[in-house]
Amino acid sequence: MTDKTKRFPLTLSSLVDKKSSADQNKRSVATPQTATTNVAWENSRSTPRNAAGAAPTALASKPMSRPMQTASHVERSGSMVSDGVRKAMVDRIARQGVSDAKVLAAMEAVPRHMFMEPGLSSQAYIDASLPIGHHQTISQPYIVARMIEIMRDNQQGGVLHRVLEIGTGCGYQAAVLSLVAKEVYSIERIKPLHELARSNLRPLRIANIRLHYGDGMLGLPQVAPFDGIILAAAGLEVPQALLDQMTIGGRLVAPVGARHQVLQLIQRTSKFDWTSTTLEDCHFVPLRAGTV
Ligand code: SAH
Repeated sequence: MTDKTKRFPLTLSSLVDKKSSADQNKRSVATPQTATTNVAWENSRSTPRNAAGAAPTALASKPMSRPMQTASHVERSGSMVSDGVRKAMVDRIARQGVSDAKVLAAMEAVPRHMFMEPGLSSQAYIDASLPIGHHQTISQPYIVARMIEIMRDNQQGGVLHRVLEIGTGCGYQAAVLSLVAKEVYSIERIKPLHELARSNLRPLRIANIRLHYGDGMLGLPQVAPFDGIILAAAGLEVPQALLDQMTIGGRLVAPVGARHQVLQLIQRTSKFDWTSTTLEDCHFVPLRAGTV
């Protein structure tokens, strides 16, 4: 596996220390994309890193504002996607049954349209998976939120220290995960998608994501154990290597199956024991071995 982490963590640079509290108080004012919203994004991002225990409340109770965008991405998306559209997406996800406030806040914070090809960005907030090239898709917003909610429902009140995502794709779910976990590791087996995720994530300056190019079925033994693992691609079974890389008490959420797939939650209960719970039906691209 090639470790491509050298360019991470990305710098928080200009966003961190130049904003006054007066700027932050303007958060609720509806404006075009401004540094104010960048501050809101940055605030939401930095909270979990500083105080793991307090993070869920802190983030969930904040009115989530539009996260950072850059001029180039606004241009790329063709038009500014309003907060309202993303809020409507989150409201829909909540109606579909996701109730974890921290997950909903994270979904509201991440600019999903920035992970799409320009021609598709107008559809970024519909509840569907959409193509990202190489016969792969960005996952449906509901299932992204649902899987993270399931992973967070742990004995630690939702605190997650280190999580692993198999199937970075365009990097969207990794960005959402970065708001609910201290450290996010994500593996992609298709090199151009790994590079795409890197360029999609770069302008967001997310310091706690590490992208790896490699076969996610092998996990990342050099970094393990993980207290949460999410598979964004469906295998006939969950690879043993991933089970072995869970902490005791850790939770793994994965689509399992071929034509008919179900979401499975696997919990590690001791060094040698795991329990498995079958949840709802789902539909994901296949988990494949090796790299391309
Ligand atoms: N997480 C993405 C979803 C990407 S689709 C999102 O935010 O929307 C699933 C991805 O899993 C594809 O990019 C596919 O190439 C990748 N994948 C499939 N098998 C894999 C494997 N063994 N290791 C790493 N990535 C894999």
